[in-house]
Amino acid sequence: MKVLKFGGTSVGSAEKIKKIAEIIHSEQPVFVVLSAMGGTTDRLTEMVADAVEGRMTTALKSAGDLKKHYDLTVLQLLGKDAAVAMFYVDIIFNSINVKLKQLPLAKAEKEILSYGEKLSTFLFHQLLLKHGLHAVLLDATTLLPLDGDHEPVMNEIEKKLWIEFNRYPEMHVFITQGFVCRNVWGETDNLGRGGSDYSASLFGAAINTEEIQIWTDIDGVQNNDPRIVENTRPVRHLRFDEAAELAYFGAKILHPLTILPAQKAGIPVLLKNTMHPEDAGTRITASQKGRGFKAVAARDGIIAIRIKSSRMLLAYGFMRKVFEVFETYKTPIDMVTTSEIAVSITIDDGRHLKEIVSALRQFGKVEVEEKKTLVGVVGLIHADEPGYARQLFNALDDIPIRMISYGASRYNFSLLVNTEDKVRTLKALNSRLFHNELIENEEDNVMNMVAD
Ligand code: ADP
Ligand code: ASP
Ligand code: MG
Repeated sequence: MKVLKFGGTSVGSAEKIKKIAEIIHSEQPVFVVLSAMGGTTDRLTEMVADAVEGRMTTALKSAGDLKKHYDLTVLQLLGKDAAVAMFYVDIIFNSINVKLKQLPLAKAEKEILSYGEKLSTFLFHQLLLKHGLHAVLLDATTLLPLDGDHEPVMNEIEKKLWIEFNRYPEMHVFITQGFVCRNVWGETDNLGRGGSDYSASLFGAAINTEEIQIWTDIDGVQNNDPRIVENTRPVRHLRFDEAAELAYFGAKILHPLTILPAQKAGIPVLLKNTMHPEDAGTRITASQKGRGFKAVAARDGIIAIRIKSSRMLLAYGFMRKVFEVFETYKTPIDMVTTSEIAVSITIDDGRHLKEIVSALRQFGKVEVEEKKTLVGVVGLIHADEPGYARQLFNALDDIPIRMISYGASRYNFSLLVNTEDKVRTLKALNSRLFHNELIENEEDNVMNMVAD
């Protein structure tokens, strides 16, 4: 059984939901994971913010507008068979109205956010039933429990899924919500924005599926951010590590945690375009195909912290003490560069910045720079082949680089630039690194650039 996840962009309208039904027909048996219809989670989030900040009339008005949109979608999708779905939409929006008034209760907020996925899966299930396709709708809050550290409990997910499969031995289509889960207190919770990809990977790993397919609105992972640069191209194959790096660096197409469960279980991940299913998309596996630079992604909101200390000179144990400060404040470090008398560290979580800086002052002078962007370039970069660094620096000739990390893995270069330079950095890499000396490997259809 394959796991197929369709994102908000793929369930954005009645017409698109019908398209998914066609794909499901040809892929059975399937375990289908759906996101909320595009824009719904944003609107629910805004409603919650309005209600929490005392703008209740605005919040209730937005809920009413969103309900009208759903009523219309239900009619377009189900026509004369819309009654059950209409009733469900009523129930959900009544509940939203009640829960908006219970805010700022965290529990109410999480429940409101889960309704986007509850709605999309219910409507999709109704559509399949209308077409005579037997399918079971499962509730993700019962399938995906988290532990006290907000981590998914894999063996529980596995057990719960097998219970359902045994309950419906003849069934070929199972549907559930992405993003939605249950926390350690037994409440509805979620995996964070964009988390449906991660849900699909967790479910896929739990049932040891043959393939996890992530269906979205673009022909696979592009070699650059298509929201920023034109003429990007799909990368036909990525290793798990390369895809994980890209997702982590900000390639929105994948939630950053998606790759890990699939990689651990050795399950290929395929990224496909719902509106263009004939395109091969991007395949992500453990094997390496192609060499050279493959793709680039960027993440904003990075903070660089520099600690200058003559006590570092020839000292041991200095780094450990510095790292312990970040550990104390549960703040992950992204990038580190060192010299004999200074160390620069980047973080993207600035919640404890003040405390971290004051704790670091015991070691020396501390400087903080905000509004930085981390740019990750991935591919198979052979340390014994000359030329990679030169190509990269040539491409970025006129852009100030604040930090650079090379050699930590064979799969990436990371650069820190000022956020104001992000767009021109990505454009420069696109035109000078990917498009100039591009060599396409026809054999495995991997786009890459080979070092000279
Ligand atoms: P979904 O709703 O299907 O989860 P997302 O909006 O989360 O879709 O992700 C798909 C979008 O990610 C694309 O439309 C594209 O704009 C954006 N994106 C950013 N970087 C990349 C990249 N490197 N490759 C492909 N898409 C990317
Ligand atoms: N609906 C959620 C969001 O918009 C989860 C997802 O789409 O993956 O963030
Ligand atoms: Mg997404």
